[in-house]
Amino acid sequence: MYESCGVVGVIYSDKRSVSAPLSIYYALYALQHRGQESTGITVHDGSQVHILKGMGLVTDVHKNYKLKDLKGFVGIGHVRYSTTGESIIENCQPLTVNFQDGTISIAHNGNLVNSLDLRAEFEAEGQIFLTSSDTEVIARLLVKKLLDHDIISAIDDIIRRLVGSYSLTILINDTLIAVRDPLGVKPLCFGKFDGGYIVASESVAIDTVGGVLIRDVHPGEVIIFKDGEMTSHRICRPKNTAHCVFEYIYFARADAIMNGKLVYQIRSRIGELLVDEHPVDADIVSPIPDSGITFGIGYCKKSGVDYMEGLMKNRYIGRTFIMPDQDMREVAVRLKLNTIPQNLVDRSVLLIDDSIVRGTTSRRIVDMVRKAGARQVHMRIGSPPIISPCYLGIDMATRDELVAAHKTVAGVEALINADSLGYISIEGLVEAIGIPEDDLCLGCLTGVYPVEIPGEECKRRQLTLNHF
Ligand code: SF4
Repeated sequence: MYESCGVVGVIYSDKRSVSAPLSIYYALYALQHRGQESTGITVHDGSQVHILKGMGLVTDVHKNYKLKDLKGFVGIGHVRYSTTGESIIENCQPLTVNFQDGTISIAHNGNLVNSLDLRAEFEAEGQIFLTSSDTEVIARLLVKKLLDHDIISAIDDIIRRLVGSYSLTILINDTLIAVRDPLGVKPLCFGKFDGGYIVASESVAIDTVGGVLIRDVHPGEVIIFKDGEMTSHRICRPKNTAHCVFEYIYFARADAIMNGKLVYQIRSRIGELLVDEHPVDADIVSPIPDSGITFGIGYCKKSGVDYMEGLMKNRYIGRTFIMPDQDMREVAVRLKLNTIPQNLVDRSVLLIDDSIVRGTTSRRIVDMVRKAGARQVHMRIGSPPIISPCYLGIDMATRDELVAAHKTVAGVEALINADSLGYISIEGLVEAIGIPEDDLCLGCLTGVYPVEIPGEECKRRQLTLNHF
């Protein structure tokens, strides 16, 4: 599974400051886990816009000598993993366009489900798109609305037209704007640091610049930062929100505070609940690093079973999905994870991980642990079975590829060659998160989505929004 993106916005009160690029760089560095394909920074110095974008990691693209050339007191940044649009430099964000009064730059986390329809409307008017990303649709809508609307009424109008998830940082000339979709699917928060304000996908980015988290951007809220002041506009107030549960299970860093909850505590609580839901007589709990670690800590705390690492991760290896064939992917798993046989031999081992998508990686890991001498291998999972794809910004897999879409728990258990398999229940997950089920997106776990998606079941929450 891959996260779609991370966004940042920084503004200094002192317009003579030239430090926005460096602060954005640090913040993007903290959000690197949200996207590793490409990254970009756009800043404004009060008279003109400056852009630095490229394919690769934050440290590669924004090398010190390149960053030195950027100067400005306000700007936005982005790290990207593509969910719509190809992985090419043209789709790299922030996306910057000219309009009658200057420039607009947009950084987007999320996915629009009606972008093709909106795109077709512009194409019917003879407009030619420069990218295949859905963010360009938002940019074009904004340019069009700003012809005869102020910023707030233009964004209000756009929010009524967009269906899907979008947490945005926008730079209109030297004004910074934060927008979160009315369902609050993807996270967005803001804070204050010495000298100005920062907006980011996760609070960890605010920590990195020595700032203090103020709060989450509310679903349906637009915040404008200008001339050292911030003004909040609640464009619409949804009856229910739809926060993505996979932010809590996997995507966000464990030290992030999201919708008022520390992600670490939620993962640890899921581990505790797994003891109640699927007890097992194991000698050790060995998390699958890194994503299984916090669940494992919770499991051990509740069960009293010893925590012992049976698997070690090589943290310097890149992503495995770029390996072109099966043999190479198997080598990649061995490069990424190694067993510690001395901790596993002749023991009943409980492995704990965040999720099972296709089942192939889990199978390889179970086989590795058996080969290292484990007597039994049990598997516990911090998410319920994933039975349906994500249309709202996460690159998971197609329905055909999702193992739990086609197999029972017993079938997956057999496929991954485990002695037992237990997933956290949806009730357990909701209890651990501590947000009512009606305010969470559980689309990939239930097949019922918070927005209308052709061919899928929908709770029609989008239709219950109260604009005012
Ligand atoms: S469908 Fe799943 S991964 Fe996608 S937003 Fe909803 S909960 Fe998150």
